[in-house]
Amino acid sequence: MFGLGQSAGKSWLGTVRFATLLALALALVSPARAQDTHLPVAASFSILSDIVKAVGGDRVDVTTLVGPDQDTHVYEPTPADVAKISGTKLFFVNGLGFEGWMPRLMKASHYPGKLVTVTNGLKPRTMVDEGRTVPDPHMFQDPERVKTMADNIAAALSRADPAGSAYYAERAKNYRGALDDLITWANKQFAPIPPARRVVLTSHDAFGYLGQRFGIRFLAPEGVSTESEASARDVANLIRVIRRTGIKAVFMENISNPRLIQRIARDAKVSVDGKLYSDALSQNPEATTYLQLFQHNVRAIANAMKDNR
Ligand SMILES: [Zn+2]
Repeated sequence: MFGLGQSAGKSWLGTVRFATLLALALALVSPARAQDTHLPVAASFSILSDIVKAVGGDRVDVTTLVGPDQDTHVYEPTPADVAKISGTKLFFVNGLGFEGWMPRLMKASHYPGKLVTVTNGLKPRTMVDEGRTVPDPHMFQDPERVKTMADNIAAALSRADPAGSAYYAERAKNYRGALDDLITWANKQFAPIPPARRVVLTSHDAFGYLGQRFGIRFLAPEGVSTESEASARDVANLIRVIRRTGIKAVFMENISNPRLIQRIARDAKVSVDGKLYSDALSQNPEATTYLQLFQHNVRAIANAMKDNR
C-alpha cells in the first residue's frame, strides 16, 4: 500500500513539476520566439535579397520578387507580388531605373512600408543608351560600391528595428570585410593579364562597373537594359571588332536568351566561353550568393581573357 501511495504521490508531483517546467519554459521562450523578432522585409531582386540577408541575418525575413535566373529589366509584377510585399515593413530596391516596373507596383499596392533605395548616395557611372545619357543601374557589379549598399541596408534595418542595430552594424562590417577580400582576390586574378587583352563580349551592358573597377572593356550587342533590341548594324560591327581584334572571351548570361551571342560567336568564328551571372543569382550552386556569383564571374572572365590576342 505504502509503496503504491508513494508511487502515486511521486507521479502527481512529477506531473506538477512537468507542468511548471513547461510553463516556465514557454514563458522564457515566447519573448524570444523567432516570429516575434523577425522583421519582415522585401527585396526587388535576388542579388539584393542576398545582400539584405547577409546584413539582416536571423533578425529578418526576406521576400524576393524577381528570383534567381530571372530578368529584372523585363519583369511584370503580378497581383501575387502585391500580396507578397503587403505585410513587409521595408522594401529594398536598387533604383537608377533598374526596376522600370516599380512605379506601377507602388501604385497598385499602396505600399504601407518604407521604400529603401540602396544605391542612394552612391555616384553612378553614366552611359549612352539609344542616344540618351542614363545612369548605369548595375552598381551591384562593383563590390566596392556594394560595401556602401550594405551600410545603407544596415542603417534602414536599424531604423526599423532599433534593438538590432548593433547586430546589423556588426554584420555589415563583416560583409564589408568579405567584399574587401573579394576585391583583393579579383585584382590578383586579373593582374597577369595585359591591359590590351582585357576585353570581354557578353549579351547586355551589365558589367560596366566591374570593367571600370578592374580595367576591363566589356562589349555587348544589347544596351543597358535587356529590353532594348540589338540593331543589325551593331551586331555586324561587333562581329567585325571580334575578327579584327581577336577577342576570344565571349559569354552568355544567366538571365538572357543565348541565341544572339551564339550567332555572333558563330559568325565571328569563336566559341562561347560559358555563362556569366549578370543581373540575378542562379539556381546553379556556383552562384547562389552574391559572393559566389562574383567569384565565378571573375574566374571565368580572367581565364577567357588569357586567350585574347
Ligand atoms: Zn541588366
